[in-house]
Amino acid sequence: MYNLVMDQIVKSSPEQEEISALLRRHGINPTAQRLIIGRVVFSSFQHLSADQVLKTVNEEMNCVSKATVYNTLNLFAKHKLVHEVIVDPTKVFYDSNTSPHYHIYNEHTGELIDVGAGELEVIGIPNLPENTVAAGIDVIVRVTGIIRSLTEGTIAGHPGNPAQRQSVCFSRRSSSDGRATHS
Ligand SMILES: [Zn+2]
Repeated sequence: MYNLVMDQIVKSSPEQEEISALLRRHGINPTAQRLIIGRVVFSSFQHLSADQVLKTVNEEMNCVSKATVYNTLNLFAKHKLVHEVIVDPTKVFYDSNTSPHYHIYNEHTGELIDVGAGELEVIGIPNLPENTVAAGIDVIVRVTGIIRSLTEGTIAGHPGNPAQRQSVCFSRRSSSDGRATHS
């Protein structure tokens, strides 16, 4: 009965039909719980931790276990529906934007923001082991401090504003080339 009710809830909207079709196209059986998790993850381009997904999902209906959330996110990653961004061994983000791009991670705020593929150039790759090809290149620029808007003086929420990027406080790790400054 409980599952029947949940099935009706998650299958009732056109959005859920789209997510269901998306999962099927990637060879994933669209169970009710996967649809609920998918609705959270695929609602926009965003970086979410498993705990954030768990919290959001269960704000709506307290029906999805932590293990299910972790297993489902791993399944989505395995089928290339999300990209895993491993900031450190204890901090993994699931990125719903799977097109090529890089990241800035603010160690102070815990915020991960996108850097367009055209904004950062990786020149050359090392010799790869025999019989392998590069499946992807992950770059995370780590910064410290609060990213501020020059006009508003508030914590920035979007990486696309050049004015905000200019005011990024770089950590020592990224300042060795002399370009970085403290604002
Ligand atoms: Zn991203």
